[in-house]
Amino acid sequence: MIGYDELRSAFQELSLANKPVIAHASLQPFGYIQNGADTVLNALVDSVKSLIMPTFTYKTMITPEVGPPNNGITYGGDGDLNKMAQPFTYDMPADPMMGVLPETLRNHPSAKRTSHPILSFAGIGADMILGAQTLYEPLAPIAALADEDGWVVLINVDHTVNTSIHYGEKLSGRKQFVRWALMENRVVECPNFPGDSSGFEAIAAYIQPDTRRVELGEAFIQVIPLKRLLEAVQEQIKLDPLALLCQREDCERCNALRNT
Ligand SMILES: [Zn+2]
Repeated sequence: MIGYDELRSAFQELSLANKPVIAHASLQPFGYIQNGADTVLNALVDSVKSLIMPTFTYKTMITPEVGPPNNGITYGGDGDLNKMAQPFTYDMPADPMMGVLPETLRNHPSAKRTSHPILSFAGIGADMILGAQTLYEPLAPIAALADEDGWVVLINVDHTVNTSIHYGEKLSGRKQFVRWALMENRVVECPNFPGDSSGFEAIAAYIQPDTRRVELGEAFIQVIPLKRLLEAVQEQIKLDPLALLCQREDCERCNALRNT
């Protein structure tokens, strides 16, 4: 059984005490954790300068009947899903797809959360970083984190959930998308919406020399300096404009990039 002490010493081994970080996590590989997700969150918060995590809320999303072309989306015909959409509220839980840790962070008494209706972030001790986000620049917290020598922390997950790679795509000039969300009683346009992340693990080989990793039995934690990650993403897209896209034939966003 794993507890605070094991997690704390694993995080300490990664030397992030004076670094702001963005974390992504799956807790299942840890097996039973004494006091659950709170223990992981506390061990992480105690081992870094500040922490943010995505607390995205996809159930706010609306698909309109028409919209801009080549936008990686099928317009219309999504009426049933639109009917199930819920307006964003500040206390809307993070999508369950993101795992339990973002929701644990969001519920922490010291945590703050941004108000982007789809791509919100929560954080502790990271007010300036969170404050960078606007409706127009949803990934601005990643930029602010990079400016402060931030690191990416991946707990039992690979780069397919590494949100920061989306910011590297944007820096490289890769096309961004438009999406729509319910907010109170209106539909809000959300520009600069990122592409699909299922091909992102291809970056691992290029940043391996800059990646620190600890293992705890079946579980692992890997960390990468954000600036280096963003450089590597831009290098790869410069070499191959289709780098980091997935191979699914029916992937609307990757296909939209292939057709750009
Ligand atoms: Zn794709």
